Amino acid sequence: MTTGEPSTRRTRRRVARVVLIAGVVAALVAVAVIVVPLLLPPGPRPPFQLPVACGETWRLGTYPGHDDYDVDLFPTVGEAWGRPVLASYAGEVTVAGINGSLGARTPDDPDGPRGRGGGYWVKIDHGGRWETQYLHLLEPPLVRVGQRVAQGEQIGRVGSTGNSGAPHLHYEQRRGWQKVETYFDGAPSGITHDDREYTVKLTSNNCAPR
Ligand SMILES: [Zn+2]
Repeated sequence: MTTGEPSTRRTRRRVARVVLIAGVVAALVAVAVIVVPLLLPPGPRPPFQLPVACGETWRLGTYPGHDDYDVDLFPTVGEAWGRPVLASYAGEVTVAGINGSLGARTPDDPDGPRGRGGGYWVKIDHGGRWETQYLHLLEPPLVRVGQRVAQGEQIGRVGSTGNSGAPHLHYEQRRGWQKVETYFDGAPSGITHDDREYTVKLTSNNCAPR
């Protein structure tokens, strides 16, 4: 024989308390898993290599309006179309798809309709909040989201999809939310501000996965 409030009301109150506690726990877990890593300082710079084949010399450049730190790569020898694009360093693919629209610039019709944005592109998370991006690929990327790639692994081929004037690889290195000056083989590329057109030539040491 009970004398207090009806048991249904007691049960309802207990359920409400459990739901409230579960909500608080879920919020705390979300903060720990999502927010805290974003507040931590980025890790050390990975030893990035040029995203092109070992031993090849490419011209890296920028031009007014390109955006600071963005790099366009053109081979110094041979055609750009279809050249292998390699991962600068090991990591996990976080984007492999289409940015903007593809347009229709192909080796057979290099001056075809221009697309928008990056066209076929890949983004790799290298850990420690470091990322690299590879734009204007010729065909759908050779990798898929969630895939682990080794340094030097081929992720696509050079093309001219998206907003691209001529076949080339547009490349970026990012630390946290910010683009930074690209480093290759431990040295800064010198491609920084986009206030004027300038280029440097570098030879790839992206030789063996390590
Ligand atoms: Zn570019």
